[in-house]
Amino acid sequence: EPAAPPVLEARALRVRYGGFTALDGVDLGLVAGRVTAVVGPNGAGKSTLFHCLAGTLRPARGSVRLAGRDITRLPAHARTRLGIARTFQQLAVFPTLTVAENVRVGAEQGRPGDPRAVERTLRLLGLDGPVRARPAAGLPTGTLRRVELARALATGPRVLLLDEPAAGLDTAEVAALARILKALAADGTALLVVEHDPNLVAGLADVVHVMAAGRIVASGPPGRVLGSLGEAERP
Ligand code: ADP
Ligand code: MG
Repeated sequence: EPAAPPVLEARALRVRYGGFTALDGVDLGLVAGRVTAVVGPNGAGKSTLFHCLAGTLRPARGSVRLAGRDITRLPAHARTRLGIARTFQQLAVFPTLTVAENVRVGAEQGRPGDPRAVERTLRLLGLDGPVRARPAAGLPTGTLRRVELARALATGPRVLLLDEPAAGLDTAEVAALARILKALAADGTALLVVEHDPNLVAGLADVVHVMAAGRIVASGPPGRVLGSLGEAERP
């Protein structure tokens, strides 16, 4: 089938830290209804790319467009309002707020509109039982990861950016997460997963981009791309 135009599109991104080039001309398109994965060794530039899309870092050159609109200079909170949600590798939940309150914070930061977003999201992530009234502090990592994802989803995103969503999860939790992310994509969300865990990427991504030394060095379906990685490139 012909590729739909990307909803979020990065072109020729370049980022330098002092004299070091962390991104060296990176193009990336995220398409509605598809899961895109970025893999690669430590230091490849994955998080730098992620920050350019989320708005927490400005590239020295290149552009980021959302549905054709240039958002390269928009800060992160403005991008959230336009429908770009993200999760954090270091979990970013408010420890003293309850699960439901954390999710409500997401709904308030996001696209205006849906008054049912909090309840729908709690239900989708299995957080609508007694756990909804518990403070986030002290909940197990697997639950906190679901709270973090729920907070992001409650913003009503068109684009969801996930930084290592499988970190700290066991095999069953990774499988459950993959099911949820597939359902979101099937619903029309454009997903980006930056991930070390090849088990999550292999079963989930529609397309995989391999990064090395600030560039995308291979792209394709996971079966082809992950199978042909050299040892040095393996995530
Ligand atoms: P990855 O997420 O693939 O591990 P990063 O994007 O975090 O890679 O980093 C890419 C390169 O840029 C690494 O060599 C890293 O050390 C360097 N780097 C990242 N952030 C900074 C920073 N704030 N200042 C200087 N160098 C940085
Ligand atoms: Mg990183």
